[in-house]
Amino acid sequence: MDATVKYLLDETRIPKDWYNIVADLPRAPDPALHPGTLQPIGPADLAPIFPMDLILQEVSTERHVAIPEPVREIYRQWRPSPLVRARRLEKALDTPARIYFKYEGVSAAGSHKLNTAVAQAFYNREAGIRRLSTETGAGQWGSSLAYAGALFGLEVRVFMVKSSFHQKPYRKGLMETWGATCIASPSNQTEAGRRVLAEHPDTSGSLGIAISEAVEIAAQNADTNYALGSVLNHVLLHQTIIGQEAIEQFALADDYPDILVGCTGGGSNFAGLVFPFLGAQLRGGRRVKAIACEPAACPTLTRGPFAYDFGDTGHLTPLVRMHTLGSAFIPPGFHAGGLRYHGMAPLVSLVQELGLIESRAFKQTPCFEAGVQFSRNEGILPAPEANHAIRAVIDEALRCKEEGVSRAILFNLSGHGHFDMQAYIDYFAGKLEDRSYDEADLQAALAELPKVAA
Ligand SMILES: *Cc1c(COP(=O)(O)O)cnc(C)c1O
Repeated sequence: MDATVKYLLDETRIPKDWYNIVADLPRAPDPALHPGTLQPIGPADLAPIFPMDLILQEVSTERHVAIPEPVREIYRQWRPSPLVRARRLEKALDTPARIYFKYEGVSAAGSHKLNTAVAQAFYNREAGIRRLSTETGAGQWGSSLAYAGALFGLEVRVFMVKSSFHQKPYRKGLMETWGATCIASPSNQTEAGRRVLAEHPDTSGSLGIAISEAVEIAAQNADTNYALGSVLNHVLLHQTIIGQEAIEQFALADDYPDILVGCTGGGSNFAGLVFPFLGAQLRGGRRVKAIACEPAACPTLTRGPFAYDFGDTGHLTPLVRMHTLGSAFIPPGFHAGGLRYHGMAPLVSLVQELGLIESRAFKQTPCFEAGVQFSRNEGILPAPEANHAIRAVIDEALRCKEEGVSRAILFNLSGHGHFDMQAYIDYFAGKLEDRSYDEADLQAALAELPKVAA
């Protein structure tokens, strides 16, 4: 192996702690509010659906949170993930830029989501929980939690957005292989699902509806908790293993990134890569330019106001202050199922408000074009979500060429796209449409934002 191309860490150097950016931010995050009283919630309000260890991580202000040894032990199955220099892509672009990617597709589930699934399953089992319920869009989170449940002996029930349930039978097959149950949402197993079905029997479902179903099951059963694959502070915390490893790997490469890039659905893979570097910057280290890449059809960071909103359609979850398109917003169809959420992680929203990151929105066709160009040079077939990051990376690399400057660009290759081949097939057949959201639908969803003085 050519050590100038790939930077592998010894597995004994898997970080011992997760990094909490709250300790280094110039201001505290806004509190989450109770959906009924609109007053700040306390740990007890979340106890019916989350274990106390995760609730305490959610509100922690400590810079470091120790990774439990049983979790680190499982991380060794695929971590440290490789940091790769994309030399062939650099050559194809004829750019002086140094392009690196951190490859999270090496996990069993094929994406970064297993980093938090394993941690969440561990803490739930420690708390005596027997069953986890969750939602999934494209299926990456559902399959990650299914495997984590298998590792810790937990039953897992996944509500999968109905359109994906029918379009992606292989993800369901993977969940079932790992012992989980996968149900099309909306379903008639919950009050929230029955209510939607009564009004819209032919609905294709949405993440917001599936979350309502999963939360309802958890709230009603003492032995069942809910697990979320993105957005929340503790999820972002668990993903910081990515950026911390990257910092060590860059030291091995004797380099340091000038530009960091990640795609953003709920914000977890982006934060996982970027927050440890931002932390170093906030403590007096080198400045980095960080770019969050989102779909133009669901432009949370570039179009959504920074406002209090519900996390779900059924309004069962607490309100959090975030960039949001409104909980009633349902984006038009596009292939990056992991980027369809109406909101954005409160911490990613806050770092944008603080001017620490910037965001860009991309239509899907140019993203697939970038993903294919990447694949033809580096071999790996990226998840459609990650193609948004690759689009921005190629744009930045071409800018380096124009300006005649060599910058180091690092992006998070959040997962592989082996279960998304239909999207690639549609792209090659010229069937991919760049559908735009309806401006009137967006305005209607924004008009329904809860009235809370921020
Ligand atoms: C879920 C997913 C995303 C989007 O979620 P984030 O929380 O924003 O990271 C991106 N890429 C892949 C491969 C995913 O599975």
